[in-house]
Formats: sequence, C-alpha cells, structure tokens
Amino acid sequence: MSQAEDIETVDEDGEIESVSGPVVTATDLDARMNDVVYVGDEGLMGEVIEIEGNLTTIQVYEETSGVSPGEPVQNTGEPLSVDLGPGMMDSIYDGVQRPLDVLEDKMGTAFLDRGVDAPGIDLEKEWEFTPEVKPGDEVEPGDVVGVVEETVTIDHKVMVPPDYEGGEVTTVGDGEYTVEETVVELDNGEEITMHQEWPVREARPAGDKETPTEPLVTGQRVQDGLFPLAKGGTAAIPGPFGSGKTVTQQQLAKWSDADIVVYIGCGERGNEMTEVIEDFPELPDPQTGNPLMARTCLIANTSNMPVAARESCIYTGITIAEYYRDMGYDVALMADSTSRWAEAMREISSRLEEMPGEEGYPAYLAAALSEFYERAGKFQLINGGEGSISVVGAVSPPGGDFSEPVTQNTLRIVKTFWALDADLAERRHFPSINWDESYSLYTDQLDPWWESNVASDWATIRQWAVDVLDEEGELQEIVQLVGKDALPEDQQLTLEVARFLREAWLQQNALHDVDTYCEPEKTYRMLVAIKTFNDEAFDALEAGVPPEEITDIDAAPRLNRMGTAEEWNEFIDELENDLQEQLRALY
Ligand code: ADP
Repeated sequence: MSQAEDIETVDEDGEIESVSGPVVTATDLDARMNDVVYVGDEGLMGEVIEIEGNLTTIQVYEETSGVSPGEPVQNTGEPLSVDLGPGMMDSIYDGVQRPLDVLEDKMGTAFLDRGVDAPGIDLEKEWEFTPEVKPGDEVEPGDVVGVVEETVTIDHKVMVPPDYEGGEVTTVGDGEYTVEETVVELDNGEEITMHQEWPVREARPAGDKETPTEPLVTGQRVQDGLFPLAKGGTAAIPGPFGSGKTVTQQQLAKWSDADIVVYIGCGERGNEMTEVIEDFPELPDPQTGNPLMARTCLIANTSNMPVAARESCIYTGITIAEYYRDMGYDVALMADSTSRWAEAMREISSRLEEMPGEEGYPAYLAAALSEFYERAGKFQLINGGEGSISVVGAVSPPGGDFSEPVTQNTLRIVKTFWALDADLAERRHFPSINWDESYSLYTDQLDPWWESNVASDWATIRQWAVDVLDEEGELQEIVQLVGKDALPEDQQLTLEVARFLREAWLQQNALHDVDTYCEPEKTYRMLVAIKTFNDEAFDALEAGVPPEEITDIDAAPRLNRMGTAEEWNEFIDELENDLQEQLRALY
C-alpha cells in the first residue's frame, strides 16, 4: 500500500483495548472510517471499519497473535490505497501490495514477518521516459503525457492523474527517471510523475459504460462457442473442489486475448497459490513468446495472512486493473476464489457481532459482491479513449451446492455462468463446464462480432449444436428407462452426433500442446465438420442405411482427433471429404 512515501502519522495515538483475531479495538484514536492505522508495537497494518464514540474497530491485515491491550495504535489519516506506476507487471504482491519477491530477498523466506514493509513499486529504479507532449500542449486529467517500456510486452502510459486539474504543459522531460521524479510540469504548478496513488475502495473515474460488443476470446471451445464472455463482461466459475476451477482460470490467464491479466489468489488453499506463484513466472505468453508475467500481475494472499487480507486482495487487484484500463488496455481480472473473501466478511462480521444474514454471511454480502463486479465494464475513458475490465470470479460452494448464498448472490450479478460439474470431472470430461446449467447473456450482442470476424453462420451453427445437445439430454432420460435399442433409428443417430459434439468439440485438453488453445476459426470448422457428418449421416439413413453401418465408417473416429491436429485446416478438409465419400458409398 501507500508506503511509497513516508506517511506522516498524525500525533493522536490511540491505545489497543481488545484483540479478537483480526479484529482489534482501540480507544482515543482520532480516525475516520477506512483510515489505515498501524497497530501495536510492531506496527501491523489495519483499516478502520467501525467507529462508535471513543471506540474504534480495526481489521488488521496481519497476524495478531501476541498483540495485547495497551499497545499503541497510530493513524495515518489516509485511506487504504495502492501505489500505481511502472513495475506492477511482472510483480507478485500480497494482499496489501507488498511485493513478495522484494520482501523475500529482504527476509530470505516467502513467509513475511509482520510489520515488514516495502513500497508497491520500486522507487529507485530508473525508467526511460519517452514524452508524447510538448511545451504549449493543453492536457486534461487522464491524458497520456508519455510512455515507458514497462516490460517487453507492455508500454506503460504515463497519465495526468484523474484528480489533477490539467493545464498547459510548461516543461517536459526526456530520458531516465525514477517514478517519483517529475517528468512533466503544467503551468498551474502541477507536477506529473510516473507514480500515482489511489484509494482502493473508490473506483477510478471513467466515463459511461458502453455495451460490450467484442468477445474476450478464450481459445476454449466450450467458452467461445457456447458461453462467450464479452471484453468488459463478468463471469463466475462455480465448482466443487477438483472440478477444474484453477485450470480454467489459468487457461484464461494464459490464452485469453486480454492485454493485461490481474490474477488474484484470494486465500484459496495455500499450496494452490504457491503453485501459481511458482508456475506463472516460468510460462511463456503464447501470443508474444515473451514471459507470461510480462503482462501479468499476481496478487497472492499467502496462507499465513489472516482472513481480513483477502478483502484487500480483491480491492487492490481491481484498482490495479482500473489503472491499466485507464491506459486504454483490455484487462482481464481473475479472482480465485470469491468464496474465501465472502468467508472473511462472515468472520469479521461475526466478530463485530453484527446481525447475521443467510448462513451467517453479513447482510451486506450481496452489496459487496455487486460493488466489486460493478467495476468491470467497457468504459469510455476520461481521456476520450476506451478500455475494458473483464472480471471472472471463481466460487467454491461447499459440497458443490450452488444454492448457497455466495453462488446465488454472484449469479444475480454476473452475466456469464460457467458451471463446473463434479460428475463431468470424474468422467474426465474437461473442461467440466456443464452445458445444461451454464449460460451467457452476452451471446446475442457478440454474435455480430463472430459473424463478421469468423463465419457468417456462427450463430446458426451454434444453435444447431445447442439443439442437438438439448435433444440428447431428453433422449438420455428415455434411454435410461428402456435402453438405446428401443429408440427409433433417427434418434439413435442423434445420440451418436451428440456424442461427437461432447467428445470431439466440447472436451478440450488443457494439458495437450495443440489442443490447449483453439482459435475461433478452428472452433468453427470443427463444429462444421461434425455438422457435415450429421447431414450426410441423415441422408444415408433416409436412403435406408442402418445406423450401425453409418457410425462404423472409417472416417468417423477421426472427428475425435480434430482438436489435437496441428495442421487442422488440412486435417478437416480431408476429413470432410472422406466422411462425405464413405457415407455416400453406403447407398
Ligand atoms: P479445482 O481448482 O476446482 O480444485 P483443478 O483446477 O485443480 O480443480 O483441477 C483438478 C484436475 O483436473 C487438474 O489437476 C487436471 O488434471 C484436471 N483438469 C481440469 N481442467 C482440465 C482441462 N481443461 N484439461 C485437462 N485436465 C483438466
């Protein structure tokens, strides 16, 4: 958080009255709601969450064992805020924006000591600033005054802070600067540096939200093909343990066509986050060949941090996302998992002895979730440009029961729902996105994009696939009662076509070099190939060929190899020809 500058603590020190886990009360503290305070002799970071007369309640973002009544509490007089500037890409932060690698070097361990601080961005590093304005230019809040190559992938736009007035440029720097040195000066005396601070609970200003019309292309067939997410849209991935939430989120982080990825590991089981922290820095970015971290910021609530820090993870992450949105980028934010954040709210709320709502969650759970997702969107920016934040939240409903409050409240807000299914995962059908329960409310508004960028009959052929899968669902119920052989021949054939849809198209192996990513053209062509089989097969059936003979043709099993085919265009050309020839040869 904003330890970038030495915060001048105001002199009215308070005194700890009680300590209850992450919740501490203090007396005689002159503070406002949401002020950041330093608690106890060790100066643990906390935030004011309630004030009643002389008694201030604080949630502490660090472990409080050993902290006792009588120790001092200092108010910074500042709200919880993040340091924004070049250097955030390729960083791994904890929930209060302390860079884990810097601290690790400082302390020689990944487990942070309490009260240890480091600024969110490197204050000493010099960056090569290339100006984009000259003396005499008029600039307004949000305008870009210059660019810094933040990583090999990302150009960091240096902007007039949103809370500046703006004016005429008087002097412009060019060359190497630290984030705190002035690079542009305005006639009203305002000095622009590469460093901004922003209170995390306050959305950064932007113009109107627009209706998103472009998909966030994920490279996953079931997501792009059936349940697309818009750039600027919201999605939830609920799923029981082991159903593939983490793999799905990581596939999005790796393959989606976002410019910037902010990945929040919000108190998911400690070792899972360690995996992400260890894996991500090794991964190449498939789009550029550069390291994936060059366009990624990881925020990890390490397992030794108390629950309260989960909340700051979420707010820190979304604020960083907004800052890159303000540069005109398409940002994708993943939060894994929002359930752990909700549990943190429940714990704090119960320690405050608030009136509990459903299943002990606080009554404001719905409001907090919607405030978070509300910060997603495709925005007109204050500088006249456009930028977007897509938010994908994983939800971990206990026992996979989607009727619990966090899943239900999330469902009311998000517009894409990727329901992971334990049964599918058990059958090794991955991604285990259940096609009956999942949905996307963006489908209609995104169809024109797919139709003009991929194929003019995108929506028609998707609808065909949806209809076949629906019919399969209904037929399966009958099959369970009377067996497959009792079905009429055309329905038996429909079941075979549906099987290809599931096995050849919906299933996609994240661990296979080729299949892990499927470009929209390939997603489309694979579906067309299955439809070709369908159409030719039904012609053959009508001509009197029995269904067993139809499904027995040599070419049919090759449908299942389309996903892993490297030269997929040739593969599918040939396959379609063979399907047609072999089926026509039957009559
Ligand atoms: P969760 O986070 O829900 O507990 P994971 O994401 O860790 O579950 O997934 C559990 C396992 O399922 C993975 O280790 C992997 O073997 C398998 N899996 C999940 N998704 C896929 C996928 N798309 N392709 C291949 N295997 C997958």
